[in-house]
Amino acid sequence: MAKKMWFGNCRQCGFPRLVSHLLRWNSDGTINAVFRKGYRVVIFPTEFLDGLFTNVEDRLGISIRHLVFEAQSNATKVLFEGTPGARLVSRLNLGKRFTVEFGFNRLASMTGMFRSETLEYVPGSVGIARITNPFQLDLAASIIVGAFEFLEDCPIEYSWEEDSPNSYVITVRPTPEESDVAKRLKMEFSPALPGELNCDRCPRCGVPRALNHLRWVDEEGIILDRRTGTRVMMSYGYMVTAVFREMAKELGEEVNLLLVDAQREWTIRHVGLLGLTTGDEPLGDDELERAYRTYLGDLPAYGQGNPVTLELLDPGVRIEVLNPYQKYIMAGTLQGLFEALEKTGSAVEWEEGRPGAVTYTITPA
Ligand SMILES: [Zn+2]
Repeated sequence: MAKKMWFGNCRQCGFPRLVSHLLRWNSDGTINAVFRKGYRVVIFPTEFLDGLFTNVEDRLGISIRHLVFEAQSNATKVLFEGTPGARLVSRLNLGKRFTVEFGFNRLASMTGMFRSETLEYVPGSVGIARITNPFQLDLAASIIVGAFEFLEDCPIEYSWEEDSPNSYVITVRPTPEESDVAKRLKMEFSPALPGELNCDRCPRCGVPRALNHLRWVDEEGIILDRRTGTRVMMSYGYMVTAVFREMAKELGEEVNLLLVDAQREWTIRHVGLLGLTTGDEPLGDDELERAYRTYLGDLPAYGQGNPVTLELLDPGVRIEVLNPYQKYIMAGTLQGLFEALEKTGSAVEWEEGRPGAVTYTITPA
């Protein structure tokens, strides 16, 4: 049995203290890292990523693996580069070892991305780790490569092999070869629009109670939503954004519509798992509004944005969201929510009135 990574738990609500010390839940629908203001974090279910890239490849008829990989590893490198003190620590071999054990490995478990265990690490020469339960194999590998590119300050090549089901041994080594897409990715931190959310929080650790159903299974490197049994992860909010921005540049805006669709499909399933809708009949007006408000009310706790207006149209629904972490994903979320509750196909349109304020209109189709 894998050993536990001790995160400590809040004595009142049980939320991991390491997480509540590092993150702040704001009143504008965002979560940010305490050490870096504006550095946005989101919590999201991993399931919508399953098959997303394969789906994009099928529709476009070309391989996008390389592109996704480069975008993600670059985003990871930029993340570490922006962390105060990280570059300084990484100049020393002892600091590198420390970063691997207490930075990478613990962070991987804490964020529910995967469990990582160092098998061998010789700074500047080779790193070998066992990765268990990666949220998505290619993206997990690219995060590891990006982290080591930061640490060793040079391009990294990698190889991995399956060790046992859901467990992989990954080897990383410095390489003289520069990557194709490297360096062009920039992280953008747009300032959040202010909000006045007043959510119910734990008096001791300050974490919204809406997250009480999350359970960190740190010895497995995963976070579970106890209500649905599905897996969630925490990520800097720009992970998916950065990857898809690069993809849209190369492949056209069509990839964004695939992202909307993947999220729409997942949300229909999610709403069902949460028990917000049952049977095939549409809900009555009051029930319908309550179901919308329940689902939308959870979004800020996940750092996904601040839904400020809900307007039931006849037919359709209009929802304004401030600070959606990714406007296409939010479009898919709201469209899926509509379809799950109203039991009909739909079309979604959106308008960004000012940066960070997006109004979505969903109508039956
Ligand atoms: Zn607490």
